[in-house]
Amino acid sequence: MNIRIGNGYDIHQLVADRPLILGGVTIPHTLGLLGHSDADVLTHAIMDALLGALAMGDIGHYFPPSDPKWKGADSLLLLKQVLSLIESQGWNIGNIDSTIVAEQPKLKPHLKSMRSTLAQTMAIEMDQISIKATTNEKLGPPGREEGICAYAVVLLVNNKN
Ligand code: MG
Repeated sequence: MNIRIGNGYDIHQLVADRPLILGGVTIPHTLGLLGHSDADVLTHAIMDALLGALAMGDIGHYFPPSDPKWKGADSLLLLKQVLSLIESQGWNIGNIDSTIVAEQPKLKPHLKSMRSTLAQTMAIEMDQISIKATTNEKLGPPGREEGICAYAVVLLVNNKN
């Protein structure tokens, strides 16, 4: 088999006095995401999708929140590490599609810069990474602005097999 599919999901709580970082981009907002690392929920969902595609576990296994080493970690650096694991097994990213669910702030103005940051981090083209944003119609935790969640699907291709 020379293609594999993976999906990832993550959610983090919105709190005061934390930066809001999504896809490696700091977005001006009154609230930010709480977490052991920088809590970049989109990047975390993408990493879980990459690992899931190869049945290699999840990011909690590689970067446990119990390890002080990952406190405040830049998720883009973690993403680079996950990617090198994938590539060391001969796999490359075909494409990634993702969705961020947030009631506030409006993310549309920031999507292109998130795509460009993530594309650069993973050394892929802009058209290989899609990021969509939606609200939760005021329903549930994201709808009540208690948190922001993200979903990602990735297709990996292996040219060696
Ligand atoms: Mg997370």
